[in-house]
Amino acid sequence: MTPTAPTGKIDQTPDLQPWVIVTGASRGIGQACASRLARDGYGILFTYRSRSAEAQAFVTDLKQALPGAALLAFQADVSQEAACRSAVEAGKACFGDRLWGLVNNAGINRDGLLLRMKTEDMEDVIKTDLLGPMYMIKACLPLLLRNRAGRVVNISSVSGLYGNAGQANYAAAKAGILGLTRSVAKETASRGITCNAIAPGFIQTDMTQALPEKSREAILQQIALKRFGQPDDIAAAVSFLLSADAAYITGQVLEVSGGLTM
Ligand code: NDP
Repeated sequence: MTPTAPTGKIDQTPDLQPWVIVTGASRGIGQACASRLARDGYGILFTYRSRSAEAQAFVTDLKQALPGAALLAFQADVSQEAACRSAVEAGKACFGDRLWGLVNNAGINRDGLLLRMKTEDMEDVIKTDLLGPMYMIKACLPLLLRNRAGRVVNISSVSGLYGNAGQANYAAAKAGILGLTRSVAKETASRGITCNAIAPGFIQTDMTQALPEKSREAILQQIALKRFGQPDDIAAAVSFLLSADAAYITGQVLEVSGGLTM
């Protein structure tokens, strides 16, 4: 397995495997990203909030399917800044200084009309979906800046681009991620770091499983490609943005939605 991505100063330490952090990879999109990036040849530190059994099962299964995969699970609630710093420290202790990328994927939704939305549901979503990525980027920056190379990919949502009834908290957080992405891109470009966002449409995971059948059917009708997205569809876009081929792309939002919003 030879990672295709790293270029620049980071290549001066070829003895160390470049590694990537993926948040929220015990299931869903994050798990598909971690799996894909391990296959791309990176060492992976992934986080999860509480599902230790799922996280450990993922490690076992992937190591079986991909002998030699370097994969470390780490429990860290991204809404807690200290936990984010600990996650990066754990990755550094395991894989060394050659951090290549951060995929900010962990996220939650607490849907409901704003008029009736609980304050707690507003705060939890903002803390996890917006502050979490901010804490993670801040914790990774010292290593990325020192390496003078690297990639940050933030998972936003089409709700963040266009808004969505019943998701004021979630859409606000996901729109915030776009501002975060562009600002970090501007702050770090001179050090060879790119920062981009992906805006998934409707992807089949636990998060969308909860929607009533009628709503799912209505959404399917709006998807130009006439199928729901799969976690691997997002993982493929993440893999591209981490690769050498994406070296000249920064501060951008890539919508991966099957044409849902056209
Ligand atoms: P899932 O609900 O399937 O998985 C969420 C993952 O995030 C789990 O690994 C979970 O850990 C982790 N997580 C949740 N909260 C925290 C936290 N506070 N700290 C650390 N980890 C946490 O979600 P999806 O895979 O569907 O979504 C992944 C990302 O993609 C999210 O940011 C979501 O907003 C975004 N997205 C998803 C879309 C979709 O259609 N599914 C569409 C657009 C965007 P644990 O298992 O331990 O709970």
